[in-house]
Formats: sequence, C-alpha cells, structure tokens
Amino acid sequence: MPDTNTLLEAAETFTPLRAGDLPIFRQDGGVYTLFYAPGCLCVIERHHAARLEAAITSPGGADQAGAHWGTALRTHAERAVTEAERRLSEPFAPECLTLYLNNECNLACVYCYADPAPRPAARLQPDAIAAAAEIVAAHCRAKGLPFTAVFHGGGEPTLHRADVERALTLIERAAAASDVPLFRYVATNGVMSAQKAAWLAGSFDLVGLSCDGTPDIQDRQRPRRGGGSTSAAIERTAEQLHRADRPFHVRATITAATLHRQVEIAGYICRKLAPAEIHFEPVYLGGRADAGIGLDVEQAEAYVRHFFAARDVAHSYGIPLTTSGSRPGAVHGAYCNVYRHVLNLVPPGAATACFKITGEAQAQQAGVCIGTLNRQTGRFVIDHERITALRRRLDRMPARCVNCFNRYHCVHECPDICPLGDAPPGSEPGFRCRMQKALAYALLQEKAGALWAAAQAGTIAHDETGAYGTTAF
Ligand code: SF4
Ligand code: SF4
Repeated sequence: MPDTNTLLEAAETFTPLRAGDLPIFRQDGGVYTLFYAPGCLCVIERHHAARLEAAITSPGGADQAGAHWGTALRTHAERAVTEAERRLSEPFAPECLTLYLNNECNLACVYCYADPAPRPAARLQPDAIAAAAEIVAAHCRAKGLPFTAVFHGGGEPTLHRADVERALTLIERAAAASDVPLFRYVATNGVMSAQKAAWLAGSFDLVGLSCDGTPDIQDRQRPRRGGGSTSAAIERTAEQLHRADRPFHVRATITAATLHRQVEIAGYICRKLAPAEIHFEPVYLGGRADAGIGLDVEQAEAYVRHFFAARDVAHSYGIPLTTSGSRPGAVHGAYCNVYRHVLNLVPPGAATACFKITGEAQAQQAGVCIGTLNRQTGRFVIDHERITALRRRLDRMPARCVNCFNRYHCVHECPDICPLGDAPPGSEPGFRCRMQKALAYALLQEKAGALWAAAQAGTIAHDETGAYGTTAF
C-alpha cells in the first residue's frame, strides 16, 4: 500500500479523461500510468500511455484491432453509467425481505443508532410478514432468484424465539408456494444461552455476529442492558456455531476509541471466533452515538492505514476482512432499500426506504414509508410513486462527487449525512467520503502494483497498445 499520509492527496491526481461523459480516469506514476473505469483497471509504461489514451478517446479508437484494454475500459465505463441509470428507473421489484421483528434489546451498546426500548415495544405483525413475503416470493420466481430473508436490527431479532419461528414458517410457506429456494440470514448480538445458539445454528443458513473485538472493547462498547460483560457469551455462541458447522460472519463496529486497535481486533476475532468473514464498519452517527464515539474527518487516513494492517492479519489466518462503504467490484450507491430491491419491514407492519428507521410512525414522519398492509384486503401495498420520488431525491450528490473516480461505487456520506436531510450539497467532505476515497484509492494502487509486477515477471500478456489489465475485483 502507498504511504497513507499522502493517499488523499494522491487520489486527487486521478483525472477524468476526455471520453465524452464516460467515467474513465488516468493517473501517471513514476514508471507506469494507470487507467481506471469502474470494474476495470489497466497499467501501461508511462511513455506508451498516450497511445492507450488515444485509443480510448479518439472516435472508434478503442475498436481498433489490438486495443483490447481500451475497449474494456470503455465498455466498463458505459456499463457503469447504464447500471446507475437502471437503478433509478427500473420498477421496484423486491427480491429480499428484511424484518425488524421488534425494537427491544438485551444489550445497551454505547453507539446504537436505533436506541431500542428496555421494555416490551411494538412487534412486527405476522399478517404483514405473510403478505410481504408473498410479494417477494413472486418477484424471486419471475427473476429466477432465491428468496433472501434477513432478520435484522432495530433491536435484537432473536429476543422472542416464538416470533422468529412464526416468521420463518410464514416465509418458508411463501417461498414454497412460489417454488423458489430460500436463504435465511440473521444478524445477532450473539448474547444468548448455549441452547439458544444451537437453535439459531439450526434455523438459519448464515449468521452475522456482532463483536467489537477483545473482551475489554466488547464489554465496554457492547455491555448488557443493566450492566455486565458480553464477551464470554459471544465466544460461546461462536463455539456453538462451529459445533453445528453453521457458517458465520463477524461484524465489528470501529469507533474513535478503537480506530488504532484494528490489528488487535482482527487478531482476536480470527483466533477466538474464527468466522468465515470479517466486516469492519465505522460507527454510524445518530441515536446514542455522539461526537466522542464517531470518527472525525481528520481520522480518515489513519482509519485506512489501520484497516489495511488488520486486513493483512486476517489474511494470514485465511479470513477475508472487508468493509462496505466502497466496493470497486460493484456499481452501488447509498444503502437505501429502494435501490437494492429490499422490502424492509418495521413494526408494526410498514416498509421503510431507509435501513436506519426502526418503526412505522418514524417512517411516516420521515417520509420514507414505502408500503403498508391493507387490512381490508390482507395485501401488502407498495407505494411505487413514493419510491420513484425518493430515488430522485436520494440520488442527489455533492458537486465534488461528479468527477470522483469513486463515484460509481460509493455510499457517499450515508448514513451519517442523508440527502433527505438538510446538509447542503457541496458542503465539506465528511469522514466517510474521505475514508472511502482513501480506501478505494489504496485498493486500486495495490491492484495496479500487482498487475505491474506480473507484467515485469512476464506472467501476463499485454495488448497491442502495450496495456496490461484486469477486471477481477
Ligand atoms: S440515511 Fe439516507 S441515504 Fe442512507 S439509507 Fe437512509 S435514506 Fe438512504
Ligand atoms: S463521497 Fe464518494 S464519490 Fe463523493 S467525493 Fe467522496 S469518495 Fe468520491
């Protein structure tokens, strides 16, 4: 990885080519020049770079015989533009059902954005689940996709076992009626008895376990409601999942207090929990997360430096460590459900466009309620007009993003700053923008370095312009 102290400055030297409105970028290094379009990266000896640039920018140039990587760059750039437009205009046809079953939790995490209740709160109604599952199953059948059912936050989804079992039965019934396979995922805090963990392992295909790292971090950031440590319970749940041979991932939330401890966190998770994958996510602002917990804009490069070191530690155990804010292999924007074909139900029975919303009244108030159960007909009604309007409003981005190499695979400032809120477009970049830019840039540099090394070793071939490239992200 290049020196992270210069990452953001270096990222600014990635300049757009004059290739119409296509997102193709160039950066000159000492020895080689790098060309990039979303999902396609090329390197070429610096003194041959003009040849590749001409093949990309001159009319018909990329089609000339032998300009294989020029064509690939243009094709990927065109694909990214088409894909981004498609996300805005295609009909909302959910293929994933996400359930926030309740807004109660057995923990009192210091940064929780949902801030769930300590006492019984509204729960998701079974008739809403059944009606929504029917819609999702029909879309999955039409698209030839499996039905993905996600049991997620707002509170701890496994708190009421009977509710989980009933919801699973309703979803299984809907999937079977449409003859589509079902994939069941649960995101849990993992603080439960060994018996409950064994039941969980038998009920889901994949488990997402939240663990912020070593016991001192976990117990301070994710204590039990009313006090008490949680690290031993997490270790026991991981052990149960291994015993049942159930794959699981671990998600660690990184805060200002743990930013510099990412290597230690990764090492602990690999040694003690040994999941199939690890995800690090910088803490979301809002709810209980105040300024002392959230990451500061000045900490973006340090975050990336420690993230890369932690990723190397995880790799030494054969475990991938990722983060979701910028994924160069996919064209994506913010986490909004309306772009991802996710029907996200919140109690007692509405669908929300925003994953941070945890209740129907809150969704109505924020203008992000995109579906409700019609009690007369028993059918779940999706508000397509509101979805179209929300997609347009949510697609607004600050001027600084327009020519950014990361534009087509960046969640921008979501969820800390939302286009539905009142942050003026064009305001100064926040932590997430800077961190994602530095991270994506470092990933591209790393890949370019490996490509150049393979070229020097003669293990890959160049095209007739002299370019070496890859589309493997
Ligand atoms: S915070 Fe805003 S941008 Fe992010 S998911 Fe929610 S609605 Fe979308
Ligand atoms: S928010 Fe993302 S796309 Fe926009 S400038 Fe920052 S890194 Fe680039």
